[in-house]
Amino acid sequence: MSMKYVIIGNSIASTGCIEGIRATDKDGSITVIGAEPHHVYGRPLISYLLEGKTDLERIKYRPDDFYEVNKCEFLSGVRAVKIDLKDKVVETENGGTIPYDKLLIATGSRPFVPRITGLEKYEYHTFMTLDDALRLDKKIRETANAKVLIIGAGLIGLKCAEALRKYASKITVVDMADRVLPSILDAEGAEIIKKHLEANGVDFVLSTAANLDDFKFDILCVCAGVIPETGLAKAAGLEVGRGIFIDDRAATTAIDVYAAGDCTESVSGVTGARGATPILPNAYIQGETAGINMAGGRAVCDKYIPMNAIGFFGKHILTAGVYDGETVTVKRDGGFKKLFIKDGLLKGYIFIDDFKRAGIYTALIRDKTDLSGIDSDALADDISLARVYKKNRRDEILKKTDLRGQGV
Ligand SMILES: Cc1cc2nc3c(=O)[nH]c(=O)nc-3n(C[C@H](O)[C@H](O)[C@H](O)COP(=O)(O)OP(=O)(O)OC[C@H]3O[C@@H](n4cnc5c(N)ncnc54)[C@H](O)[C@@H]3O)c2cc1C
Repeated sequence: MSMKYVIIGNSIASTGCIEGIRATDKDGSITVIGAEPHHVYGRPLISYLLEGKTDLERIKYRPDDFYEVNKCEFLSGVRAVKIDLKDKVVETENGGTIPYDKLLIATGSRPFVPRITGLEKYEYHTFMTLDDALRLDKKIRETANAKVLIIGAGLIGLKCAEALRKYASKITVVDMADRVLPSILDAEGAEIIKKHLEANGVDFVLSTAANLDDFKFDILCVCAGVIPETGLAKAAGLEVGRGIFIDDRAATTAIDVYAAGDCTESVSGVTGARGATPILPNAYIQGETAGINMAGGRAVCDKYIPMNAIGFFGKHILTAGVYDGETVTVKRDGGFKKLFIKDGLLKGYIFIDDFKRAGIYTALIRDKTDLSGIDSDALADDISLARVYKKNRRDEILKKTDLRGQGV
């Protein structure tokens, strides 16, 4: 009997799921319910769209015939409003009821708008969707010499600042935190990025709860973080913490219901911590894992670690793992590399404009490779990293991490 797959959400996790299903089941029907009235697009690219570095064609995450090739029915611009676990149907806002055998919830996240003094007096923008970017684009073009105020010095706020910089006469970013990118950088790394942004014309007011009456601005952007979109799952009775709880097969606590991407939380097989990993690669991998399992295959995603790759005004950052333990830092040629080492294990790293051997470092974290015999300075030096390993140890690590293709 042909399976009926239903996916709520039409973004990265959803794409992974469609491809996971089709790798396993060529025939079952797939219905995708997407609240945004757009072909699937790469969400991180909205800042490049706003900046004018890309266009509506090039931000597409998959080609135009993606749904057709994968035999999907795409309900574009339609919101799911209820999941009925007993009858196995999803209800949509336009009165539709869509039966499923296997369901994926891939509803992502929505902007968090904190209490901000004076906010009720002003029109404000958020910066999460293609439509947000188009609205902001229109506004900045019709506002000459705009002064822009951005609430939030996290990833989305700083991407918004970068995108608007060349159009605005002034950009100010305010945050309660004492540093930029507090969720991915330590104080030292954050200072490097802050200085770089300042040199590119972005001003900061940190350690400050914004009172909008204290600032002069024409355009206000609230980029204070994201909240997992869990309403449907919670109402259906699934286990939900900050995100929808999933296991390493991307299964939720309800039978035949899976979830993936920014709307979820899970236990990292590497760090053991339960939490969300709201980044694009994670959304795709979880979605693909869900799709394979929904279609009767077997897949697990237990080896993910928190990772981020991002850049601002030509300076690039790569981070991974957790920032726990002793540190060893290397600064050279304008780059910055910091490793976090504890109990003979590499726990995390921050690399800024210095990415040599990044693949090896990531694998050492992911595989919890025992490094207790290795001097931490040698570990931090990429030439030594390759040299100091005695051949047998090197072979053992290479075998374990399957890094032969990465130029060790
Ligand atoms: C400006 C910006 C820059 C970013 N930069 C990076 C980066 O550099 N690197 C990185 O790894 N990550 C980055 N991210 C994060 C990355 O985009 C997300 O991790 C990723 O998009 C998550 O994918 P997802 O499929 O889980 O959810 P989302 O992309 O959030 O998509 C969820 C979709 O579900 C839809 N939906 C929600 N509820 C319903 C409903 N009830 N019915 C129907 N549809 C529904 C939503 O409308 C949305 O289209 C960035 C995000 C932003 C906003």
